[in-house]
Amino acid sequence: MAPVCGLLWLGLQSFERQRQALDTLTAEKLDTELQARTTAAARQAFVDKTHPIARDRFVIEQGTVVTPALRAPLPAQAPPEFAEAERLELTLGRPDLALPAYRALLDTHRWDALASSRIARCLSRLGRTTEARTTWRTLAQSHPDARDLSHRPFGIVAAIEAGETQGLYEQIASGRWVISGEQAEYFLNTLDPVRTSPYLERFRFAREVQDKFRPNDSPRPGEVQTSRLNDRTIFYRAENADRLTGFALDQAWVDGTLRPELERELGMTSRTRQDLWLYGGALALVLLVLSAGVLLLLRDISREARVNRLRSEFVSGVSHELKTPITLIRLYGETLLRHRNLADAERDGFYRIITRESDRLGRLVNQVLSFSRVERGDQTYALEEGDPAPVLAGIVKDYGELLARAGFSVKCSLPTSAPAVRFDAAALSQAVVNLLDNAAKYSGESREIVVRLQAADGCVTFEVEDHGVGIPPAEQSRIFERFYRAPNRTATGGYGLGLFMVRHIMEAHGGRAEVESEPGRGSRFRLVFPVVSEWAHTAS
Ligand code: ADP
Repeated sequence: MAPVCGLLWLGLQSFERQRQALDTLTAEKLDTELQARTTAAARQAFVDKTHPIARDRFVIEQGTVVTPALRAPLPAQAPPEFAEAERLELTLGRPDLALPAYRALLDTHRWDALASSRIARCLSRLGRTTEARTTWRTLAQSHPDARDLSHRPFGIVAAIEAGETQGLYEQIASGRWVISGEQAEYFLNTLDPVRTSPYLERFRFAREVQDKFRPNDSPRPGEVQTSRLNDRTIFYRAENADRLTGFALDQAWVDGTLRPELERELGMTSRTRQDLWLYGGALALVLLVLSAGVLLLLRDISREARVNRLRSEFVSGVSHELKTPITLIRLYGETLLRHRNLADAERDGFYRIITRESDRLGRLVNQVLSFSRVERGDQTYALEEGDPAPVLAGIVKDYGELLARAGFSVKCSLPTSAPAVRFDAAALSQAVVNLLDNAAKYSGESREIVVRLQAADGCVTFEVEDHGVGIPPAEQSRIFERFYRAPNRTATGGYGLGLFMVRHIMEAHGGRAEVESEPGRGSRFRLVFPVVSEWAHTAS
């Protein structure tokens, strides 16, 4: 595990270094290219007046910022036609007389807007406020772009006088009228003293340009120059000796549009990064495979250790199993030899024990031999078609007698005939005896064993049921493994081959071995054979 972790760490380090190197390289390349593109776009913006790189354009004439204008031009004189009306209104202080004079001017249609504003003014001086307001309202609607003598649009002043200011702030802030900075600040402040508008920014910027911007002493006309003003970048160009145009760079546009565009174009996000991720992916894959290998190795080692342990348990189990019958045979053989004058019944009893123990010995040796043949792949079965019922009945009867002598009652539910199956009589006997033997070994307090034979759903099923210790669910899938012996088993004698052989035999018969069990309540083991027609069908 330690080398894998080491490799993983080195891999991650290398990946991180590559990533950082790539990032630095990318950033440098991008910066150089971005600068070149920004300059090109700025140049273009002097031709294309709507270019998005330019924010807050300005024009300087003879050293003064004229666009956006910070101050409005000086107020104009009223046209001479207004002289008489003005005299009546302002000098004599007679708005009542001035009113018809202004109205007369309306008739000429040349001074509609100005005359209307004077009429409204006179009306309000005469206290005719409703009429005054109506006049202002009409003026705001009919001549929004006309200006008063102070160059203020009637769209704004008349609307304010009429008290019709809804939406006016937004209109002004959207640049609906070209007005000076002072006018903009005044109007917006009048309309809403609390609110601030980005619209005013351009005037603030123009003021900064006016106060602090110092262009090159003698810029060559037409040449685009750049400079910094506070935190902003400015591009400017001398149109002639007296006029200079320029704008502030829109950094948000450069970062939000130009830079991503460039990144895409240079394929930085795609190609190089893809390579890096590919490298990272390959590295991860190699490490994954390596870790999986180590895990498999560890699993193999532990499995090998387990098999070795099981093997040695097996050897001691078999030896133990061999010892008992051999001891008994020798004991009773010697007794028979030494005591010639034994009663017949007693002698018969000893002979029976010797026969039973040699049977057991024979079975044990057979089991071990067939297991070793299975291990070598040499085990063969002579399958013959026939009725298994009489054969099974014979096996159960023979082994049942042995069990009966050990105090078990074997209840049989065996029909006299069953559908034909293919089977090897010796192997069948081995499987059945293994099941009966286990039923007795793991019977606990119970002394009852039930055997059944049934035919249903194209199968012939032989079942051995006991009411013994049972098997926990987690172990049920493992008991058919070779050498497997459930832990904490109280039963002695056993070496973990019985069920392995049962399963092997049943698979060779095209059938299966099944178990159903509940701890403390007992188990049912089944040998399931396909009936001949089904068997032939599945085998083909
Ligand atoms: P063993 O020689 O240990 O009996 P088997 O392969 O015949 O080997 O059985 C494997 C294990 O299955 C046993 O050790 C036992 O734990 C469990 N087992 C088999 N048959 C029964 C049964 N009828 N009741 C409870 N447990 C059983």
